[in-house]
Amino acid sequence: MFRRIYGTYPEGIWAAPGRVNLIGEHTDYNDGFALPIAIPQHTLVAARRRQDGRLRLHSAQGDGPVADLDLARLTPGVVTTWAAYPAGVVWALLEAGHRIGGADLHIDSTVPTGAGLSSSAALECAVAFAYNDLYGLGLSPPALALLAQRAENGFAGVPCGAMDQLASACCTDGAALHLDLRAGAHEQVPFAPQTQGMSLLVVDTRVKHDLGDGAYAALRSGCEQAARELGLTALRDLTPADLPRAVKTLPAHLVPLVRHVVTENGRVAKAVSHLRAGHVAALGPILTEGHASLRDDFRISCAESDLVVDTALAHGALGARMTGGGFGGSVVVLAEEGRVEAVRLAVTTAFRAAGYQEPGLFPVSPAAGARRIM
Ligand code: ADP
Ligand code: MG
Repeated sequence: MFRRIYGTYPEGIWAAPGRVNLIGEHTDYNDGFALPIAIPQHTLVAARRRQDGRLRLHSAQGDGPVADLDLARLTPGVVTTWAAYPAGVVWALLEAGHRIGGADLHIDSTVPTGAGLSSSAALECAVAFAYNDLYGLGLSPPALALLAQRAENGFAGVPCGAMDQLASACCTDGAALHLDLRAGAHEQVPFAPQTQGMSLLVVDTRVKHDLGDGAYAALRSGCEQAARELGLTALRDLTPADLPRAVKTLPAHLVPLVRHVVTENGRVAKAVSHLRAGHVAALGPILTEGHASLRDDFRISCAESDLVVDTALAHGALGARMTGGGFGGSVVVLAEEGRVEAVRLAVTTAFRAAGYQEPGLFPVSPAAGARRIM
């Protein structure tokens, strides 16, 4: 495809995965903790440097012709299509003072878009890794992830935290990534559910979330306001023991937001200690509690996601929760291998009975992070 579009061969091909966050939702921008895995679905970028300062972008998933941009004129607001994500990465590199030139990029992906599996971070990270190698920048995976986040915040206009990009850049095969967003630290926690007869199933509800629609920004600023009112740098600094006092002093509408963030950080810690002890099944109830917190306190679930969770649990799943920013997207289900078919069938049947769109169902296992593949 690259040769058909640009008439030459690429210098290389890079891959970056989507992610499923196991637990730790809406905690990243609160300086908290998260526990994502990379999934086998990934975005590929074929790339070739250009000497004339132009950035040309084409995607097998983007409708339309090649976007042809001038590096010298990359400023936030000038690109309003999907091309803002890859162009934003180049902008972020320039803004950080890196000496880079133009490129031709062709993109193709197996990560469903807008499904809560972070196709945006996969796209950004694939481009960031390509530029890092092509222009010999020598940046580390976490540094590239933060540039990718900067692209999404500053150029694509989505006020996301860094969890998605860190997951895509830093995850490793057979492990979950324990992130401490304040320390900028991460550690690999071995996680291989299949070796204990368990399976992770992703259910794409087909309800498209739109992180740019303002709801995400409102939640984020609610959390930041709560931290300010409590005299804290971020909600990360509130412990479960502090919660009753905080509840008394905060405006009522901020209380559930704070309760979610505090209990969610606790769930990440619990999940990590279970995985470290090899107790994969113990993750189940933590997922389900996390879902209840997102549904009842953060209020970002939807009827379709709730139906998946309830149906999966009723058919023997160990746990289930919506994953990603919310308002639709995907649900992750942990189940014993022998239960997966029953869950799959029950969810499909329940969706049909409710008149919902046919969901997408596929198993995932912890996969590798971003890398050069050719
Ligand atoms: P998510 O990251 O959960 O998939 P987002 O709304 O954050 O959802 O990002 C989805 C957007 O990212 C798409 O609407 C599109 O603009 C862009 N995108 C992601 N992958 C691709 C791709 N392969 N080709 C073109 N655009 C893409
Ligand atoms: Mg995204």
